[in-house]
Amino acid sequence: MADVPSEAPEHCPGTQSENAGKASACAGCPNQSLCSSGAARQPDPGIALVKERLSLVQNKLLILSGKGGVGKSTVASLLSRCLAANNPDRNVGVLDIDICGPSQPRVLGVLGEQVHQSGSGWSPVYIEDNLSLMSIGFLLSSPSDAVIWRGPKKNGMIRQFLSEVDWGNLDYLILDTPPGTSDEHLSATSYLKGAGITGAIIITTPPQVALLDVRKEIDFCRKVNVPILGVIENMSIFVCPKCKNTAEIFPASTGGARAMSNELNVEFLGSIPLDPLLARCCDEGKNFLTEIPNSPTVSTLNGICKRIVQKCEEEKENCPNNSQ
Ligand code: ADP
Repeated sequence: MADVPSEAPEHCPGTQSENAGKASACAGCPNQSLCSSGAARQPDPGIALVKERLSLVQNKLLILSGKGGVGKSTVASLLSRCLAANNPDRNVGVLDIDICGPSQPRVLGVLGEQVHQSGSGWSPVYIEDNLSLMSIGFLLSSPSDAVIWRGPKKNGMIRQFLSEVDWGNLDYLILDTPPGTSDEHLSATSYLKGAGITGAIIITTPPQVALLDVRKEIDFCRKVNVPILGVIENMSIFVCPKCKNTAEIFPASTGGARAMSNELNVEFLGSIPLDPLLARCCDEGKNFLTEIPNSPTVSTLNGICKRIVQKCEEEKENCPNNSQ
Protein backbone atom coordinates (compact mmCIF):
# COMPACT_ATOMS: atom_id res chain seq x y z
CA MET A 1 0.00 0.00 0.00
CA ALA A 2 1.32 3.45 -0.87
CA ASP A 3 2.45 5.66 2.03
CA VAL A 4 -0.19 8.16 3.04
CA PRO A 5 1.36 11.57 3.86
CA SER A 6 0.83 12.40 7.53
CA GLU A 7 -0.60 15.84 6.66
CA ALA A 8 -2.73 16.60 3.62
CA PRO A 9 -1.34 19.47 1.44
CA GLU A 10 -2.79 22.80 2.51
CA HIS A 11 -5.57 24.18 0.33
CA CYS A 12 -7.01 27.67 -0.04
CA PRO A 13 -8.68 28.33 3.34
CA GLY A 14 -11.52 30.25 1.63
CA THR A 15 -12.17 33.97 1.59
CA GLN A 16 -14.38 33.84 4.70
CA SER A 17 -11.81 32.05 6.88
CA GLU A 18 -9.84 33.71 9.71
CA ASN A 19 -6.80 32.30 7.93
CA ALA A 20 -7.63 33.93 4.58
CA GLY A 21 -4.46 35.34 3.01
CA LYS A 22 -2.32 33.94 5.85
CA ALA A 23 -2.13 30.20 5.14
CA SER A 24 0.90 28.79 3.36
CA ALA A 25 -1.35 27.93 0.40
CA CYS A 26 -1.98 31.70 -0.01
CA ALA A 27 1.66 32.42 -0.90
CA GLY A 28 1.76 33.59 -4.50
CA CYS A 29 -2.03 33.85 -4.86
CA PRO A 30 -2.99 37.10 -6.67
CA ASN A 31 -5.75 37.70 -4.05
CA GLN A 32 -3.46 37.26 -1.04
CA SER A 33 -3.28 40.94 -0.03
CA LEU A 34 -7.04 41.40 -0.50
CA CYS A 35 -7.77 38.33 1.64
CA SER A 36 -5.28 39.21 4.39
CA SER A 37 -6.74 42.76 4.61
CA GLY A 38 -10.10 41.20 5.59
CA ALA A 39 -11.91 43.02 2.76
CA ALA A 40 -12.89 39.72 1.16
CA ARG A 41 -14.65 38.75 4.39
CA GLN A 42 -17.26 41.46 3.90
CA PRO A 43 -20.57 39.95 2.77
CA ASP A 44 -20.74 39.80 -1.03
CA PRO A 45 -23.26 42.45 -2.19
CA GLY A 46 -24.45 39.84 -4.69
CA ILE A 47 -26.16 37.94 -1.85
CA ALA A 48 -28.47 40.89 -1.14
CA LEU A 49 -29.13 41.42 -4.86
CA VAL A 50 -30.09 37.77 -5.30
CA LYS A 51 -32.32 37.92 -2.22
CA GLU A 52 -34.10 40.98 -3.58
CA ARG A 53 -34.52 39.53 -7.08
CA LEU A 54 -35.81 36.17 -5.84
CA SER A 55 -38.13 37.65 -3.23
CA LEU A 56 -41.14 36.62 -5.35
CA VAL A 57 -39.88 33.05 -5.78
CA GLN A 58 -41.46 30.74 -3.20
CA ASN A 59 -39.37 27.58 -3.56
CA LYS A 60 -35.84 27.21 -4.87
CA LEU A 61 -34.89 23.63 -5.67
CA LEU A 62 -31.41 22.42 -6.60
CA ILE A 63 -31.17 19.37 -8.86
CA LEU A 64 -27.91 17.57 -8.15
CA SER A 65 -26.11 14.46 -9.34
CA GLY A 66 -22.79 12.95 -8.36
CA LYS A 67 -21.90 12.03 -11.95
CA GLY A 68 -22.68 13.16 -15.47
CA GLY A 69 -24.89 11.04 -17.70
CA VAL A 70 -27.25 9.80 -14.97
CA GLY A 71 -30.14 11.78 -16.47
CA LYS A 72 -30.07 14.84 -14.20
CA SER A 73 -31.05 17.31 -16.93
CA THR A 74 -33.66 14.96 -18.33
CA VAL A 75 -35.25 14.47 -14.91
CA ALA A 76 -35.01 18.22 -14.14
CA SER A 77 -36.92 18.99 -17.35
CA LEU A 78 -39.54 16.32 -16.63
CA LEU A 79 -40.09 17.51 -13.06
CA SER A 80 -40.49 21.09 -14.31
CA ARG A 81 -42.98 20.12 -16.99
CA CYS A 82 -44.85 17.90 -14.55
CA LEU A 83 -44.99 20.54 -11.78
CA ALA A 84 -46.27 23.11 -14.30
CA ALA A 85 -48.84 20.76 -15.87
CA ASN A 86 -50.21 19.43 -12.58
CA ASN A 87 -50.40 22.86 -10.95
CA PRO A 88 -51.75 25.18 -13.66
CA ASP A 89 -52.27 27.96 -11.13
CA ARG A 90 -48.58 27.92 -10.16
CA ASN A 91 -45.56 29.26 -12.05
CA VAL A 92 -42.42 27.23 -12.59
CA GLY A 93 -39.03 28.53 -13.73
CA VAL A 94 -35.95 26.55 -14.75
CA LEU A 95 -32.49 28.04 -14.33
CA ASP A 96 -29.87 26.03 -16.16
CA ILE A 97 -26.54 26.72 -14.47
CA ASP A 98 -24.84 23.67 -15.97
CA ILE A 99 -22.47 26.16 -17.54
CA CYS A 100 -20.27 23.63 -19.30
CA GLY A 101 -23.13 21.51 -20.64
CA PRO A 102 -26.40 23.46 -20.75
CA SER A 103 -28.98 21.02 -22.11
CA GLN A 104 -32.29 22.52 -20.98
CA PRO A 105 -32.90 24.52 -24.20
CA ARG A 106 -32.73 21.22 -26.13
CA VAL A 107 -34.78 19.03 -23.78
CA LEU A 108 -37.41 21.70 -23.26
CA GLY A 109 -37.67 22.26 -27.03
CA VAL A 110 -36.49 25.89 -27.23
CA LEU A 111 -33.03 25.43 -28.73
CA GLY A 112 -31.94 28.50 -30.68
CA GLU A 113 -34.33 30.91 -28.91
CA GLN A 114 -32.98 34.28 -27.82
CA VAL A 115 -33.36 35.89 -24.42
CA HIS A 116 -34.24 39.57 -24.36
CA GLN A 117 -32.98 42.19 -22.00
CA SER A 118 -35.32 44.87 -20.73
CA GLY A 119 -35.14 47.54 -18.03
CA SER A 120 -36.17 44.95 -15.46
CA GLY A 121 -33.61 42.30 -16.44
CA TRP A 122 -33.29 39.30 -18.74
CA SER A 123 -36.64 37.86 -19.79
CA PRO A 124 -36.70 34.06 -19.64
CA VAL A 125 -37.97 32.01 -22.57
CA TYR A 126 -41.53 30.69 -22.11
CA ILE A 127 -42.22 27.01 -22.85
CA GLU A 128 -45.77 27.08 -21.46
CA ASP A 129 -47.80 29.91 -19.95
CA ASN A 130 -46.55 28.85 -16.50
CA LEU A 131 -43.14 27.39 -17.40
CA SER A 132 -40.12 29.52 -18.27
CA LEU A 133 -36.42 28.86 -18.79
CA MET A 134 -33.18 30.78 -18.51
CA SER A 135 -30.04 28.99 -19.65
CA ILE A 136 -26.47 29.92 -20.36
CA GLY A 137 -27.13 27.98 -23.57
CA PHE A 138 -29.12 30.98 -24.89
CA LEU A 139 -26.16 33.30 -24.48
CA LEU A 140 -23.34 31.24 -25.98
CA SER A 141 -22.45 31.63 -29.62
CA SER A 142 -21.16 28.05 -29.64
CA PRO A 143 -21.88 25.19 -27.21
CA SER A 144 -18.13 24.80 -26.59
CA ASP A 145 -17.72 28.47 -25.55
CA ALA A 146 -18.11 28.07 -21.78
CA VAL A 147 -16.05 24.91 -21.40
CA ILE A 148 -12.86 26.90 -20.89
CA TRP A 149 -14.35 29.32 -18.36
CA ARG A 150 -12.58 29.35 -15.03
CA GLY A 151 -13.89 29.82 -11.48
CA PRO A 152 -14.26 33.64 -11.27
CA LYS A 153 -15.99 33.92 -14.64
CA LYS A 154 -18.41 31.12 -13.77
CA ASN A 155 -19.01 32.72 -10.39
CA GLY A 156 -19.84 36.08 -12.02
CA MET A 157 -22.16 34.41 -14.49
CA ILE A 158 -24.06 32.57 -11.75
CA ARG A 159 -24.41 35.78 -9.77
CA GLN A 160 -25.83 37.50 -12.86
CA PHE A 161 -28.16 34.59 -13.54
CA LEU A 162 -29.48 34.60 -10.00
CA SER A 163 -29.81 38.37 -9.71
CA GLU A 164 -30.79 39.59 -13.18
CA VAL A 165 -33.49 37.30 -14.55
CA ASP A 166 -36.95 38.83 -14.45
CA TRP A 167 -38.94 35.75 -13.36
CA GLY A 168 -41.89 37.63 -11.90
CA ASN A 169 -43.89 35.56 -9.38
CA LEU A 170 -42.66 31.98 -9.27
CA ASP A 171 -43.84 29.11 -7.09
CA TYR A 172 -40.92 26.85 -8.01
CA LEU A 173 -37.49 27.69 -9.38
CA ILE A 174 -35.65 24.55 -10.46
CA LEU A 175 -31.89 24.97 -10.71
CA ASP A 176 -30.21 22.42 -12.98
CA THR A 177 -26.62 22.30 -11.74
CA PRO A 178 -23.53 20.58 -13.21
CA PRO A 179 -22.60 17.08 -11.97
CA GLY A 180 -20.47 16.76 -8.84
CA THR A 181 -19.73 19.53 -6.39
CA SER A 182 -17.87 22.23 -8.23
CA ASP A 183 -17.42 26.00 -8.40
CA GLU A 184 -20.97 26.38 -9.68
CA HIS A 185 -22.45 24.70 -6.60
CA LEU A 186 -20.41 26.74 -4.19
CA SER A 187 -21.30 29.96 -6.04
CA ALA A 188 -24.99 29.10 -6.23
CA THR A 189 -25.30 28.03 -2.60
CA SER A 190 -23.42 31.07 -1.32
CA TYR A 191 -25.39 33.57 -3.44
CA LEU A 192 -28.63 31.88 -2.39
CA LYS A 193 -27.74 32.16 1.30
CA GLY A 194 -29.92 35.24 1.78
CA ALA A 195 -32.78 34.12 -0.46
CA GLY A 196 -32.81 30.59 1.03
CA ILE A 197 -32.79 27.21 -0.71
CA THR A 198 -35.87 25.07 -0.11
CA GLY A 199 -33.97 21.87 -0.79
CA ALA A 200 -31.99 19.62 -3.09
CA ILE A 201 -33.19 16.68 -5.17
CA ILE A 202 -30.46 14.19 -5.99
CA ILE A 203 -30.56 12.09 -9.15
CA THR A 204 -28.64 8.84 -9.45
CA THR A 205 -28.51 5.54 -11.31
CA PRO A 206 -28.30 2.27 -9.36
CA PRO A 207 -24.66 1.17 -9.90
CA GLN A 208 -22.41 1.41 -6.88
CA VAL A 209 -20.06 3.86 -8.52
CA ALA A 210 -22.88 6.38 -9.05
CA LEU A 211 -24.14 5.75 -5.52
CA LEU A 212 -20.68 6.47 -4.09
CA ASP A 213 -20.75 9.87 -5.76
CA VAL A 214 -24.22 10.49 -4.35
CA ARG A 215 -22.84 10.04 -0.85
CA LYS A 216 -20.44 12.92 -1.57
CA GLU A 217 -23.35 15.01 -2.83
CA ILE A 218 -25.34 14.32 0.35
CA ASP A 219 -22.28 15.23 2.37
CA PHE A 220 -21.96 18.50 0.46
CA CYS A 221 -25.60 19.43 1.14
CA ARG A 222 -25.18 18.72 4.82
CA LYS A 223 -22.00 20.82 5.00
CA VAL A 224 -23.62 23.82 3.33
CA ASN A 225 -26.92 23.36 5.23
CA VAL A 226 -29.10 22.65 2.21
CA PRO A 227 -32.03 20.38 3.16
CA ILE A 228 -32.25 17.23 1.04
CA LEU A 229 -35.80 16.70 -0.25
CA GLY A 230 -34.95 13.26 -1.58
CA VAL A 231 -33.23 10.95 -4.02
CA ILE A 232 -34.61 9.88 -7.41
CA GLU A 233 -33.25 6.77 -9.07
CA ASN A 234 -33.17 6.96 -12.86
CA MET A 235 -32.86 4.18 -15.44
CA SER A 236 -33.01 1.32 -12.93
CA ILE A 237 -35.54 -0.73 -14.84
CA PHE A 238 -36.33 -1.04 -18.52
CA VAL A 239 -39.90 -0.87 -19.79
CA CYS A 240 -40.35 -2.49 -23.19
CA PRO A 241 -42.31 0.03 -25.28
CA LYS A 242 -44.08 -2.84 -27.14
CA CYS A 243 -45.00 -5.45 -24.52
CA LYS A 244 -44.68 -3.14 -21.46
CA ASN A 245 -42.72 -5.86 -19.62
CA THR A 246 -40.10 -4.56 -17.22
CA ALA A 247 -36.56 -5.80 -16.66
CA GLU A 248 -33.95 -4.76 -14.11
CA ILE A 249 -30.92 -3.36 -15.89
CA PHE A 250 -28.51 -3.18 -12.98
CA PRO A 251 -29.01 -6.09 -10.59
CA ALA A 252 -29.74 -4.40 -7.29
CA SER A 253 -27.19 -6.47 -5.39
CA THR A 254 -26.84 -3.80 -2.73
CA GLY A 255 -30.40 -2.52 -2.70
CA GLY A 256 -29.62 0.43 -5.01
CA ALA A 257 -30.62 4.01 -4.23
CA ARG A 258 -33.51 3.01 -1.97
CA ALA A 259 -31.23 1.16 0.46
CA MET A 260 -28.65 3.94 0.32
CA SER A 261 -31.34 6.55 1.07
CA ASN A 262 -32.56 4.54 4.07
CA GLU A 263 -29.03 4.18 5.33
CA LEU A 264 -28.30 7.90 5.01
CA ASN A 265 -31.68 8.95 6.35
CA VAL A 266 -32.88 10.79 3.25
CA GLU A 267 -36.19 10.20 1.51
CA PHE A 268 -36.31 7.95 -1.55
CA LEU A 269 -38.67 9.71 -3.95
CA GLY A 270 -38.98 7.02 -6.61
CA SER A 271 -37.52 5.23 -9.64
CA ILE A 272 -37.89 6.47 -13.20
CA PRO A 273 -37.53 3.64 -15.72
CA LEU A 274 -35.19 3.67 -18.69
CA ASP A 275 -37.65 4.40 -21.43
CA PRO A 276 -36.49 4.72 -25.06
CA LEU A 277 -39.57 6.83 -25.90
CA LEU A 278 -38.64 9.25 -23.13
CA ALA A 279 -35.08 9.55 -24.47
CA ARG A 280 -36.44 10.21 -27.96
CA CYS A 281 -38.92 12.85 -26.80
CA CYS A 282 -36.26 14.67 -24.78
CA ASP A 283 -33.70 14.54 -27.58
CA GLU A 284 -36.30 16.04 -29.93
CA GLY A 285 -37.44 18.63 -27.36
CA LYS A 286 -40.95 17.16 -27.24
CA ASN A 287 -43.12 17.02 -24.15
CA PHE A 288 -43.10 13.36 -23.05
CA LEU A 289 -46.02 13.97 -20.67
CA THR A 290 -48.37 14.89 -23.51
CA GLU A 291 -46.80 12.66 -26.19
CA ILE A 292 -47.11 9.42 -24.16
CA PRO A 293 -49.61 10.33 -21.42
CA ASN A 294 -50.49 6.72 -20.51
CA SER A 295 -46.90 5.64 -19.94
CA PRO A 296 -46.11 4.18 -16.49
CA THR A 297 -43.19 6.64 -16.45
CA VAL A 298 -45.70 9.52 -16.44
CA SER A 299 -47.58 8.10 -13.45
CA THR A 300 -44.27 7.63 -11.61
CA LEU A 301 -43.37 11.26 -12.36
CA ASN A 302 -46.77 12.47 -11.17
CA GLY A 303 -46.27 10.65 -7.86
CA ILE A 304 -42.76 12.11 -7.42
CA CYS A 305 -43.96 15.65 -8.18
CA LYS A 306 -46.84 15.36 -5.74
CA ARG A 307 -44.40 14.36 -3.03
CA ILE A 308 -42.02 17.22 -3.95
CA VAL A 309 -44.89 19.71 -3.58
CA GLN A 310 -45.64 18.24 -0.12
CA LYS A 311 -41.96 18.31 0.87
CA CYS A 312 -41.73 21.98 -0.12
CA GLU A 313 -44.70 22.74 2.13
CA GLU A 314 -43.05 20.80 4.97
CA GLU A 315 -39.78 22.70 4.51
CA LYS A 316 -41.67 26.00 4.56
CA GLU A 317 -43.18 25.03 7.90
CA ASN A 318 -39.77 23.94 9.25
CA CYS A 319 -37.96 27.02 8.01
CA PRO A 320 -40.31 29.86 7.02
CA ASN A 321 -37.35 32.11 6.11
CA ASN A 322 -36.52 29.90 3.12
CA SER A 323 -39.48 31.16 1.17
CA GLN A 324 -40.44 34.73 1.49
P1 ADP B 1 -26.97 14.34 -17.20
O1 ADP B 1 -27.69 15.66 -17.15
O2 ADP B 1 -26.97 13.62 -15.90
O3 ADP B 1 -25.59 14.43 -17.80
P2 ADP B 1 -28.86 13.68 -19.33
O4 ADP B 1 -30.13 14.12 -18.73
O5 ADP B 1 -28.21 14.57 -20.35
O6 ADP B 1 -27.78 13.36 -18.19
O7 ADP B 1 -29.10 12.22 -19.91
C1 ADP B 1 -28.08 11.49 -20.57
C2 ADP B 1 -28.75 10.66 -21.67
O8 ADP B 1 -29.56 9.66 -21.08
C3 ADP B 1 -29.63 11.48 -22.61
O9 ADP B 1 -29.46 11.01 -23.92
C4 ADP B 1 -31.05 11.17 -22.12
O10 ADP B 1 -32.02 11.22 -23.17
C5 ADP B 1 -30.90 9.73 -21.61
N1 ADP B 1 -31.83 9.44 -20.52
C6 ADP B 1 -31.89 10.05 -19.31
N2 ADP B 1 -32.86 9.49 -18.55
C7 ADP B 1 -33.44 8.54 -19.30
C8 ADP B 1 -34.52 7.60 -19.10
N3 ADP B 1 -35.16 7.55 -17.94
N4 ADP B 1 -34.83 6.75 -20.11
C9 ADP B 1 -34.13 6.80 -21.28
N5 ADP B 1 -33.12 7.63 -21.53
C10 ADP B 1 -32.77 8.49 -20.57
